[in-house]
Amino acid sequence: MTAQIIDGKAVAVELRATVAARVAALGYSPGLTVILVGDDPASAVYVRSKDRAAREAGINAQTIRLPADAPEARLLGEIARLNADPDVDGILVQLPLPRHIDTDRVVEAIDPQKDVDGFHPLNVGALANGRPALVPCTPSGVMKLLRHTGVKLTGARALVLGRSSIVGRPLAHLLLAADATITVAHSRTNDIAAECRRAEILIAATGRPEMVRGDWISPGATVIDVGINRLPDGRLVGDVHYEECRQRAGAITPVPGGVGPMTIACLLENTVEAAIRRRR
Ligand code: NDP
Repeated sequence: MTAQIIDGKAVAVELRATVAARVAALGYSPGLTVILVGDDPASAVYVRSKDRAAREAGINAQTIRLPADAPEARLLGEIARLNADPDVDGILVQLPLPRHIDTDRVVEAIDPQKDVDGFHPLNVGALANGRPALVPCTPSGVMKLLRHTGVKLTGARALVLGRSSIVGRPLAHLLLAADATITVAHSRTNDIAAECRRAEILIAATGRPEMVRGDWISPGATVIDVGINRLPDGRLVGDVHYEECRQRAGAITPVPGGVGPMTIACLLENTVEAAIRRRR
């Protein structure tokens, strides 16, 4: 069997077009402000991509750049100003932050209604209670890819590999809300391979390059690879061994071109949602 390749790029293009159409119908331009602290090159690339994608969708995007040694109070001051600005609908602080800044305090300072990353405890709690408000972008993108494949979620045995607050945990809540039967595995799970073999839907988010091997995949399973890892030889790979797993999976996402493009598209969607809800 060779798997159906889930084209995240194409799904993301469609979603971005839908967002652009919604923005055009609003009669105003939702505002998104991204704050970047420091000069981490990967973060700078992400922020530029977010800014460009937002502008293309008609969103009024701006980036605030603070030096790596900016005091936490300065960052909190910027957030307070943006919270109070009626033209700003979404605020995103690019993570990771420099070590001298308390990430939790920063995330909690963002107005939950403008928290387009979905990391504020109020949004996390709402999701855990099955009343999602603003949902983290990568898990939201994964759910859209699953729905795009047409795989039946109700009752399905779904395995989430990884329990980070950015990917694994919110994804488990979203799958539960979609009536899947969830297992969350992590670095202390006894037999990861055996857990994987039981899964009809497998989502890998461990940050371990090509960790999921072909013989871990139940024939016909749907495999979503959230991982993005740069190998010493320069290759970009996921947390799933793509060549092996696509021989057994029913459907699989490539890396790059799978989940990655969906994350930014979902950020744009969250910005529009935040604007509509807050201005209603
Ligand atoms: P974290 O490092 O925060 O979390 C990794 C999780 O994987 C932890 O829960 C950890 O378990 C678990 N884990 C680590 N090693 C193993 C192992 N050997 N066996 C089983 N579980 C293991 O990573 P993130 O969730 O932030 O990111 C995961 C991956 O997704 C990364 O490759 C990252 O680059 C990518 N990513 C991609 C995005 C996109 O837009 N496509 C966005 C965000 C992330 P424990 O809790 O026990 O330590």
